[in-house]
Amino acid sequence: MTALDLSSASSGARDRIWHPWSPIQQAQRLTLTSSRGCYVRDDDGRSYLDLRAGTLNATVGYSHPAVVEAIRDQASRLMTWDLAEVSTPPARELADRIAGLLPEPLEYTLFCNSGSEATEAALKIARMWHRIHGRPGRTVVMSFADGYHGATTAAIAATAAPFRRDGAGPLPAGYAHLATPRCPSCASGEEHDGCMVPGAAEWEAQILAAGPETIAAVLVEPVLSVGGVIVPPPGELASLRTLCDRHGILLIADEVATGFGRTGRMFGFEHDLGPAGMAPDIITTAKGLTGGYAPLAAVTVRTDIYADFACDPLLGGLRHGHTTGGHATACAAALAVLDIVEHDKLVPAAASRGTQLLEALAPLKQRPSVRDVRGLGLLIGVEMASMELAAGVAQAVQEKGVLIRAFGPVLTVAPPLIISEQEAEDGARTLAHAIRALPSGEG
Ligand code: PLP
Repeated sequence: MTALDLSSASSGARDRIWHPWSPIQQAQRLTLTSSRGCYVRDDDGRSYLDLRAGTLNATVGYSHPAVVEAIRDQASRLMTWDLAEVSTPPARELADRIAGLLPEPLEYTLFCNSGSEATEAALKIARMWHRIHGRPGRTVVMSFADGYHGATTAAIAATAAPFRRDGAGPLPAGYAHLATPRCPSCASGEEHDGCMVPGAAEWEAQILAAGPETIAAVLVEPVLSVGGVIVPPPGELASLRTLCDRHGILLIADEVATGFGRTGRMFGFEHDLGPAGMAPDIITTAKGLTGGYAPLAAVTVRTDIYADFACDPLLGGLRHGHTTGGHATACAAALAVLDIVEHDKLVPAAASRGTQLLEALAPLKQRPSVRDVRGLGLLIGVEMASMELAAGVAQAVQEKGVLIRAFGPVLTVAPPLIISEQEAEDGARTLAHAIRALPSGEG
């Protein structure tokens, strides 16, 4: 084990931020100081086209005057209050607004601060709800093995990815995994004839093996984001809904990354469940909710699930919450962001810009270094043959003034939904050049 020797760095030169999800040894980091539209600027005055929307959250772009003004206005009236005791106008209006965007049974919203907190709350609600109904044995949560639902303890228990959970145990009991809807041979990069994508048959076998009477909820992302931009085949989310109904299991859609337009529909579940008139029982949202302007997340549940909590034996309500969950200034930011998403028609825009980017990047599949190019709306993954190649390409495009995040081997192209046709073209060209410029044999 070699700890980092910090003795040579002068005290003034030290960056004392413990940067999450990145190696301490990483010497060079950007310091971002200002922004506008789809661009951020560093402390040397260099401008970067942001093809990652921050971390998939900057949906309406940076420094939008209407959002800045909404934040200023609310902070000057009442910055916040704990929603256990009171309502505030922006939180109330936002809960109404979210209900209006979702199918009818999804009506009541609990606010939290982050996507991980939303996961924790959704799982607790599912288990408590079964208990209220006299089913205390239903505690298990099943989720896709490659899903990502946050960094807190319950959330990492819900993924099987060793990178996210190793060393953090003991993890809580009560989790089991469903096969990720991706051909395992494609995922491992081995040569094969014909793809076998796990779906309803495998999932039902896994549910039966776990014991349906023990399962509280199935928790899934409509499109797996951080886990590698994996788009389940059409119809598979609907078959999961049917399986949940058959076995008395709640379906929780984690729309933290996909919610509010990212996939070219207001919510990712609409692609699959919507046409069949189906919906999840609980939905979690965060990132796009405030477009990155403030920390805020939401757990929205079916009306009857909410009403049943009046029967909670200890409180007659939900025994859960956070001091700043539903922060009034964050809710005001969210209302302004949703106005922009609707007024500027950013959901159909995400669909068309997504098609443009996917078409521009698809020819890269011919390169030896690229395993796949896939996506839905403005959530696109360019899967490289290795993590190192992906990190190298992310660095190379940064030097050319474009920011793209690599999650493992997958370069995740997910710009703000406001990206213009020209910006999308420029970004795709820079990425393609960087991949073609890899040393021969790799590129
Ligand atoms: N769920 C999904 C699908 C996510 O992509 C993320 C974050 O990337 C989370 C949950 C966790 O959200 P947060 O980072 O706000 O805790």
